[in-house]
Amino acid sequence: MKDRGKVNLRGKLESLAKDMGTTYFGIADLTPARQRISEQGGEFLTQFPRAVSHGFVLTDGIVNALVHHKNIAALNTYWYYVYQIINPRIDSISMMLAQSLDKAGFQAFVVPSSQTVDRTSLTGVFSHKLAAHLAGLGWIGKSALLIIPEHGPRVRWGTVLTDAPLEAGMPMDEMCHDCCTCVKDCPAHAFTGQAFDKLRPRSEIFAAEACDNYLSKRETLDKACGICVYICPFGRNQ
Ligand code: SF4
Ligand code: SF4
Repeated sequence: MKDRGKVNLRGKLESLAKDMGTTYFGIADLTPARQRISEQGGEFLTQFPRAVSHGFVLTDGIVNALVHHKNIAALNTYWYYVYQIINPRIDSISMMLAQSLDKAGFQAFVVPSSQTVDRTSLTGVFSHKLAAHLAGLGWIGKSALLIIPEHGPRVRWGTVLTDAPLEAGMPMDEMCHDCCTCVKDCPAHAFTGQAFDKLRPRSEIFAAEACDNYLSKRETLDKACGICVYICPFGRNQ
């Protein structure tokens, strides 16, 4: 028998995620972004009015190595750490959260930590950044990355969509202001300098094909660059 009782489900989910190493945790109200969500991943996703967003902070030593983005060893180490170590852990946390929601009697849909379903826009089924932003954890910067005041873009995100009526946070205001560091330093000139707006198509902020073309010409094993993650003054300590 599933427990739909008035347990503090939000608190239970947060404790579970934090016990597994999550630093950031929040709940997003997805209803203002229904159209964008439907356009990206399909109408079926709009059955979920909430998202549980959780973020895992990357260690500075690994991210700071991205300044040596022309050094194959530094880049491949970063990519190994993110894709082979952190992302599977994020997927495990998402699965545990989904199981808790399921046990409490609610639907839960785990968004894979890393997935590309559209090769042109380089997007997955659902935007982790959108969920974290709507949960009040940060803002989507001119780099199209989720920026957290303390850790900048140095956080990897996981998301579980749900129909559980969890209390949601308030979206955080954009704080890039006059900064254009990522726009100037992207070697592929992939950022337009436009600020994020939930009604503005992502393509007006970020030319994904320019990034993809640049990366495909590189000789690194995992086609990495990551300057936009390293260079943001938020979270950068060197
Ligand atoms: S990964 Fe590199 S090329 Fe791609 S958007 Fe970021 S800075 Fe630009
Ligand atoms: S580098 Fe500057 S403009 Fe780019 S995301 Fe960070 S704060 Fe915003």
